[in-house]
Amino acid sequence: MVRSSPGSADFKARAAAAVEARAAQLTEISHRIHENPELGFEEHFAHDLLAGAAEEAGLEVQRQAYGVETAFAARAGTEGPLVAFLCEYDALPGIGHACGHNIIAASGLGAGLAAAEVVEELGGRLLILGTPAEEGGGGKLHLMQGGAFAGVDAALMLHPAGLELAEMETLAVQQLHARYRGRAAHAAAAPQAGRNALDGAVLGYVAAAALRQHIGPDERFHGIFTDGGQKPNIVPTFAETNWYVRSPTVARLEVLKERLADCLNSGAVAAGVDIELAWADYYFAEVRSNGPLVELWKANAAALGRDPQPPAPGRTVVGSTDMGNVSQMVPSIHPTIAVAPPEVAIHTEDFAVCARGPDGDRGVIDGAKTLAAVAIDYWSDPSVRTAVSADFTGGTDAVVASN
Ligand SMILES: [Zn+2]
Ligand SMILES: [Zn+2]
Repeated sequence: MVRSSPGSADFKARAAAAVEARAAQLTEISHRIHENPELGFEEHFAHDLLAGAAEEAGLEVQRQAYGVETAFAARAGTEGPLVAFLCEYDALPGIGHACGHNIIAASGLGAGLAAAEVVEELGGRLLILGTPAEEGGGGKLHLMQGGAFAGVDAALMLHPAGLELAEMETLAVQQLHARYRGRAAHAAAAPQAGRNALDGAVLGYVAAAALRQHIGPDERFHGIFTDGGQKPNIVPTFAETNWYVRSPTVARLEVLKERLADCLNSGAVAAGVDIELAWADYYFAEVRSNGPLVELWKANAAALGRDPQPPAPGRTVVGSTDMGNVSQMVPSIHPTIAVAPPEVAIHTEDFAVCARGPDGDRGVIDGAKTLAAVAIDYWSDPSVRTAVSADFTGGTDAVVASN
């Protein structure tokens, strides 16, 4: 069991005071990002706002970092263990900051700026990493490929939610486009000459629907039709379905992908058409929370009067995130901080309101203090670092970022 280091109390008090001193600025940053929602890889406003604040605070800032136009990296400290604070800041189409990434951005920045005031004395280094396009674009995978996580010893972030959870339950996910190609013919004059791509797609969909009864209760797949022909009097020569496939681990996801592929292929066989299964060239892995870092999150959140719970039936926030891939490479945490009532789910308009309300603002401040405190424990106590590494290397083999 890892405990907060007693020698770190003064440093945490200083970091907490630094967050308080910036409370108005951090809240304003959270609100301004909320009011200017930007989709993945288009987050120029948030990029400039966050990178500018880090520059103003005297950190060494790399804008448009690692070949990603809306990513940034801000650094402090000259040598020692490197802790990364991750900021997400992309929004959702139509419903803005309904995932509350404005809170992730402001709390990650606040933690980094506060920790920067003590990092040198503690013999550590820090990185505030602006990670665009979490909602489907896989921004962190681009950053991984660019080398952003090389040398990072621990990666810390939080996610706002309706629940206070020490760990978020995540599913590995991969996307698929199934493209069916048949032969056009006049649907009345010469139907016998046609081969119906839409029939192939429909039969594949129906077979997949039947498969759902026999998959794990913790697995999911969902598909839509994105192309179903041009005109009723032409036998459809092309049809397409688009799928998300999810399972609790990458290993189980591989099995589920095969079973879904069999179903979709069966439709093509039945209709006598060709099929192409185009899997996305990346997947999101499940988040692997580092046990000792989770314990430190809980202890430091408790010091602020919060009470992060373990996920349990009826008390989960389930999703998929590119943080999963980071957590397979670097010891990581992805806890949730409560900024809304338990019945308000992320990706709803109600949640978007909470994300810039008083509870959201408290989440920014408490979140920044807690993230900074976890980093201070990590820097100040070698036994913490040993426990974190042991937990990480003792687990399953790291999963590569793409396939
Ligand atoms: Zn989301
Ligand atoms: Zn999110």
